[in-house]
Amino acid sequence: MQLIDAHAHFYNSSDYLHHLLQMMDTCGISKCCLSGLGKIFNCKSNKDVKNAFECYPDKIIGSYFIRPGKVSPAEIEEAHSQGFKMLKVSIPTKSYDNKSFFPLWKKAEELEMPVLFHTGIVTIAQNARNENVSSWNMHPMRLEPIANAFPNLNLIIAHLGVHWNEDAAELMRMRPNVYSDITGEPDGWRVRAERIGIKKWLWWEGAFKKLIFGTDVFYNKIPLILEQDKNRLQKYKIDHETKSLFFSKNIIKLLGMD
Ligand SMILES: [Zn+2]
Repeated sequence: MQLIDAHAHFYNSSDYLHHLLQMMDTCGISKCCLSGLGKIFNCKSNKDVKNAFECYPDKIIGSYFIRPGKVSPAEIEEAHSQGFKMLKVSIPTKSYDNKSFFPLWKKAEELEMPVLFHTGIVTIAQNARNENVSSWNMHPMRLEPIANAFPNLNLIIAHLGVHWNEDAAELMRMRPNVYSDITGEPDGWRVRAERIGIKKWLWWEGAFKKLIFGTDVFYNKIPLILEQDKNRLQKYKIDHETKSLFFSKNIIKLLGMD
């Protein structure tokens, strides 16, 4: 079964890309959607990501990081023309559903770029305290007006909302163009998901069909995340077809690579 990591970051650490590629090989992950979140998140930049997918076009899919309020539709268009295939969005200056951001989502829809939205509590670098970041701006329900206004735009809720799991799951259930990943640190919200049981939120028949595999961790933790997810699918007796949607087919479809 093909494995694609739809949520990987280019951390600002020496020789990171090399380590990441090696770990992907070890884990049997054929491709990853890589984004650089910049200094606020101790990551590399969009430019570094571009270099990465140009060097490794078979392994790296470019995910362009934007911060709504600090980016224009023209910049998205330029990123797309450079070869970026999707958008990674976090720490907007206003809530995701603010009308002033709609031209961004319109552009993404037009360019058929799926958008991975950070949702829930966010951890930023110490030196970014003055950035006025508020997780309320990134509540999963902030995506509802976007999903409604742009029916041909595919939205991915990152981390199943972190601590807003029920809202994230229900929005995904009710909107055909909303997907979710269950990424995050092994000691973060996933601990609660293990303890409570993720089925508490993903309760309906076929819920796992709209999940997308990703890691969102430093490369050395990728094997643990993968193992946990495999065990989770095993525990809930998820069928083969659903597993393949989760591990690659959903993101392949959203990226138009099928
Ligand atoms: Zn992330």
